[in-house]
Formats: sequence, C-alpha cells, structure tokens
Amino acid sequence: MSNFTVAKFGGTSVANHQAMERCATIIKNDLANRVVVVSASAGVTNHLVRLGQESVPAAERNEIIASIREIQLNIIEAFTGDHNLGDFVDEKLSQLGEIAEIQAQQHSVKNADEILSFGEQLSSALFTQVLNELGVNAKCFDIRQVMKTNSLYGQAVVDIEALKTKAIEHLAPLTKDSVIVTQGFIGQDGLGHTTTLGRGGSDYSAALIAEALDATNLSIWTDVVGIFTTDPRITDQARAIPEISFGEAAEMATFGAKILHPATLIPAMRQNIPVFVGSSKEPEQGGTFIQQSVSSSPTYRSIALRREQTLVTVKSPAMLHASGFLAKVFAILAKHELSVDLITTSEISVALTFDNPTGSTQSLINNSVLAELEQLCEVSVEHGLSLVAVIGNNLHATKGLGSSVFDKINDFNIRMICHGASSNNLCFLIPGQDANTVVEQLHDTLFAA
Ligand code: ASP
Ligand code: MG
Repeated sequence: MSNFTVAKFGGTSVANHQAMERCATIIKNDLANRVVVVSASAGVTNHLVRLGQESVPAAERNEIIASIREIQLNIIEAFTGDHNLGDFVDEKLSQLGEIAEIQAQQHSVKNADEILSFGEQLSSALFTQVLNELGVNAKCFDIRQVMKTNSLYGQAVVDIEALKTKAIEHLAPLTKDSVIVTQGFIGQDGLGHTTTLGRGGSDYSAALIAEALDATNLSIWTDVVGIFTTDPRITDQARAIPEISFGEAAEMATFGAKILHPATLIPAMRQNIPVFVGSSKEPEQGGTFIQQSVSSSPTYRSIALRREQTLVTVKSPAMLHASGFLAKVFAILAKHELSVDLITTSEISVALTFDNPTGSTQSLINNSVLAELEQLCEVSVEHGLSLVAVIGNNLHATKGLGSSVFDKINDFNIRMICHGASSNNLCFLIPGQDANTVVEQLHDTLFAA
C-alpha cells in the first residue's frame, strides 16, 4: 500500500492562526497525510468543561462563550479567502449557549458531552479553511458519523468494528480527492447523542482512525520535539529519544509521561502502525518514532514520573496459609471501579497503589471502600507518593540493576519496589516531595552523557 498517514494536531498546534498555518504547511509538504484529526484550540476544552458543570450562572456562561468566540474569531480574522466561517462560529456558539442554559437548569452528563464537543467542531472547520487557503483541497468530516461508542458519557468506549466498517464506507472514499479534516475526542452513541472519549482523547481518536483505515503511519504533532528520556522540566539533561519500541512507549504513557494519551498505542500496536511524535512548531527538528522493531534496545531508555499516588496496605493474619483473601480484596476494589497499578505482597499483607489523576485524595479511597476492606483486614492508606518508573529493555534479566538504580538514591525512603513482571520497567514509590530530586539524580546516573 502507498503511504497513507493519519496526522493529529493537539490544542497548542491549533491554538491560533499562525500555529494552524504551520500545521497546514506540514500537511501540504507531505500529501501522504490524508486524514487530519484536530483537538480543540488550546484553552477551549477547559472553558467547555466549566460550561458543562452544574448551575453555572448566566453571566459566567456568557463570559465563557465570549472567550471561545474571541479565540476562534482571531483565527478567522487572518483568513484571506472566501468563507462564511464567522456565521458558522456564531451559529455554533448560539447552539452552545442554548444547551448551556438547559445544563445550568438541569445538569446531565449527556449534555456535558454535547457541550464539550463544540471545541473540536469549531477547530476542525477552521483548520479546513487554513488548508484550503494554502491551496490544499481539504474537506471537513463529522467524525460522529463513524466513531460509534457506547453511552458512557465522558469516557465513552468505541465500537471498533463499527468504526472500521463505517470508516471504510464513508471516510476512506473521501480521502482519494481531498485531505479530510476531522475531530478528535468526540463520538456518537447508539441513540445519536454526542459522546467524548475522555480528556486528551484526540490522540486515541487518531490512532483508532489510523487502525480503521489501515494507515501506514500515524503522526502525533504536539508542542515538544518527541519523547524525552525524562520530563525536561525536571532536568535540563533530558534528551529526545529518536526511536522507541511499542512496549517501552506503552509503559511510558502508562507511567506518567504526559506526551500521549495512554490508550493511543493500543490500536497502533494491534495494526502495527508506526507512530511519529513531533513538534508542529519545529517539524525540522524531527521527533520520536514509536514502532515494533527498533535498531537498538538499551537497558535504560527513560524515566517516567507519576505524582499523587495512593498506597493502600491491607494486612490480615487470616491471610497466613489461607486462600481466597486476595480475591475478596479485589472484588471490593472492582465493585468500586478502582484500578490497581502496582502490587506487592508478603505473607500477611498486600500493598496496592492507585493513580489519582485529579489529585483529590479524599474521593478515591472513600469511606465506603474503607469500611468494606476493614471488614476483611486492617487497612492503612498513604497519600502524596510519587511513582518512578525506569523504562528500558530486558530489565528483568539485567545483572546489577538494583545497585545501578538504587545506589545513587540511597538517601531517600523507597516505599515500595515492583520489578520482574515486565521486562520493560522497574517501578518504585517515593515521598512526593523527593520526586524531582530522585528523578534528576537517577537520570544523571543512568543517562550520563
Ligand atoms: N480537546 C480535548 C481535551 O482538551 C481532547 C484533546 O485535546 O485530546 O481534552
Ligand atoms: Mg493532548
């Protein structure tokens, strides 16, 4: 098959006209890019999240809509060709105002998703015009025609088979004559209502579309020049990684490297589609290729950090030589839809970690979870920990790994270590306040230039 790339541009890449023009130039320079998936312009989704909340006063709703209008009209003002996008934006924003008013009176998660979808609806229409003005034949496509989901508003699950069938029928033929611009993040349920795939979900949308269309490449254009050995805000020694395997990158995305939505690599891996991550601001700087086979597999590839972890330790003498204890603990966690990340066990106790993306320590392990666990065993909960993940290759079989990793961070209290289940990672928990120093020192040790 000839090259067929699905390209995704994140919020900062489509924040204003200049940024959009840079992205459009990337497409124009390589017309293997047949489908373009966009996020909402930077800041817009955050405004919409507020607009979708309960009882937002009319004055605030108007202010929010005015702010969104300003972001979009600034882009339109720079257009030189014929268009009626000013009217389009006004029409969309008046629809938005109506739904927001209903939402303020009677809140529903369904309407919240409808509200959230306006960001991508607007940015995709405007980006299509930017491409057209650069002389690229582009058309805007409403992804809700093909991105079919269940009705779990806010975190909808995509029907991959339906997407595939519908994308081949409705989307693929259009890509022959035009570059198709479409929305990330949004979908539609069986009742015809708009759904969303979760914050940051546009990366995942793009990967699903690439899979459905059997694309040869997926390009994720963002505001950093690829994936780094660690967060460059923690140490200036962090370097961009030219290539990385799916397995390593999936661990990185899971363990906190914020660069990709964690689910993005799943469709790419299923269909073996190489993923490029680069900066739309500096495309000439290259980026990171994530693919199945890579030319080198170093022991240490990167260090990821995830903050706001909660550690729960359950302890029961009844566990000694008993069976079924863990099953009971996990049944309680499953009932409360709590997803466990790391586990270590001893004869009579089990330590479990939970990610806490919102940082709201109270709600995660709430009183009813605690009460149920306490029926079974003694429970202790610690908040504010950070999870450090050393990502690499063959880590489970590397001699001297323990001393290489831990010798230089001897002064810190390592709360839990998980190693051996995956050849691609070694994880440990430390107090949150030590996180930056530990990562910095570890990076110096493992990635000394
Ligand atoms: N616009 C959505 C968000 O900000 C989706 C995305 O950007 O990926 O979460
Ligand atoms: Mg994003």
